[in-house]
Amino acid sequence: MGGSFVIDVIVAGAGPTGMMLASELRLHGVQVLVLERDAEPTKVVRSLGMHARSVEVMDQRGLLEQFLALGTQYPTGGFFAGIPKPSPEQLDTAHPYTLGIPQPLTDRLLTEHAIEVGVEIRRDCELVGLSQDDNDVAAELADGTRLHARYLVGCDGGRSTVRKLLGVGFPGEPTRIETLLGEMEVGVPPETVAEVVTEVRKTRRWFGVGPIGDEGLFRVVVPAAGLAGDRTPPTMEDVRQQLRVVAGTDFGVHSPRWLSRFGDATRLAERYRVGRVLLAGDAAHIHPPAGGQGLNLGVQDAFNLGWKLAAEVNGWAPSGLLDSYHTERHPVAAAVLDNVRAQTELMSVEPGPQAVRRLLSELMDFEEVNRYLTEKIAALGIRYDFGEGHELLGRRMRDVGLKRGRLYGLMHGGRGLLLDQTGADARSADAALGRLSVAGWGDRVDHLVDVSEELDVPALLMRPDGHVAWVGEDQQDLLGALPRWFGTPVN
Ligand SMILES: Cc1cc2nc3c(=O)[nH]c(=O)nc-3n(C[C@H](O)[C@H](O)[C@H](O)COP(=O)(O)OP(=O)(O)OC[C@H]3O[C@@H](n4cnc5c(N)ncnc54)[C@H](O)[C@@H]3O)c2cc1C
Repeated sequence: MGGSFVIDVIVAGAGPTGMMLASELRLHGVQVLVLERDAEPTKVVRSLGMHARSVEVMDQRGLLEQFLALGTQYPTGGFFAGIPKPSPEQLDTAHPYTLGIPQPLTDRLLTEHAIEVGVEIRRDCELVGLSQDDNDVAAELADGTRLHARYLVGCDGGRSTVRKLLGVGFPGEPTRIETLLGEMEVGVPPETVAEVVTEVRKTRRWFGVGPIGDEGLFRVVVPAAGLAGDRTPPTMEDVRQQLRVVAGTDFGVHSPRWLSRFGDATRLAERYRVGRVLLAGDAAHIHPPAGGQGLNLGVQDAFNLGWKLAAEVNGWAPSGLLDSYHTERHPVAAAVLDNVRAQTELMSVEPGPQAVRRLLSELMDFEEVNRYLTEKIAALGIRYDFGEGHELLGRRMRDVGLKRGRLYGLMHGGRGLLLDQTGADARSADAALGRLSVAGWGDRVDHLVDVSEELDVPALLMRPDGHVAWVGEDQQDLLGALPRWFGTPVN
């Protein structure tokens, strides 16, 4: 094996994680091939939306307008264990809302973006085998074809073939409760549905029959407990039977658009990288949908990994950069799994968890508690460990207004950015250039001399994923930070 490659990176799986990752790689000129098992995109609606950090990510890549056009903005409050609370004030984001958008639309928009930036996607193409050496990864497809690339990323969902082939451990809790899910029409008036649902939800939380859109469709969520067999997808009769068991009526449901089922397993991959193969999204972590975080987590994995893997392929990655993907993202997923476990407990209708739920609900009346939990769900509170330093260090930079426009509007290319306010008040032409310089890294890092009324630091260096890598005003100090993230300078 070895030699020159036509494909730099193979991405297995064209879900939201795979598409986001492929686009990020392409932004840096990397040749990407996405392999997707399914011949057609699925109609199944799993995720119902995006939280603030993912909305920011879309904004940072110039995709927000398309998402806003197809989505609905909801208040950010009330997501933690479904405890109804108003949105906290002063959320640290220019996008203090949750964007309701069904997953097939998210998948479609991310796919369109990927194609636009030059990603090749092969559907009906299942990865079944994998081998690697020091220089090369070989992927074997179901039809016997072998493809070679420098790296491969498994974005192939919770049952990831890539993870299994790598033999990476996936410890955690198995599925205990299965739930049926589908979109269909009902044969009774909507008011009757609402009355029954309100009554049933007093004793069962993983249950819902609610209208969606304006085509007379209802989304049905009903426990599968007691249902014989493990049919995927379930049949319409399965759904009727479970509705009768749980609600005492099947609401006359008929004409399903699609039917599906999901479990509540909670697991986290032990390693996100084995040599030249990496894992991202559901392939690396699975959990029940409490709080609606899985897709968000996967898209943000991709946002963290993309520029680092591109740096590796393009030959300028400093030592340890690619491994920082695991170091930074594994703890984030562990924290999400934990908050989902906590939410799941709080959704139990047993007296003990109910008492804890009441107590937490009281605590959430304190603005700070409500904000803390909302930031957890919205992934705004994440701080990677870049060492001691300014409070912004390791956090993602929120969008701020500059003299020449919005900060995020200048980040669409996915490059590093030195935002330099040191020249902003200067009178001489020289000083207007700022006191700092990224000379030697100009091919990887933009230098922006501008000023923001919302930003009280002389200068900051942002990685392509928007996380703050350095804060200060001293050039020598900056020269210490640049190589850590952007490698050696070129003359
Ligand atoms: C009921 C439900 C509700 C949810 N609600 C939310 C929500 O509100 N918010 C949220 O953020 N998340 C939610 N999620 C989670 C979200 O759907 C997933 O986290 C998300 O789809 C993960 O994206 P992914 O790209 O990592 O994996 P997937 O979307 O599973 O994509 C994996 C892709 O890989 C392909 N594939 C698999 N094996 C192979 C192979 N061997 N070769 C090639 N291709 C392969 C698959 O066909 C698939 O297209 C919900 C999940 C469920 C079940």
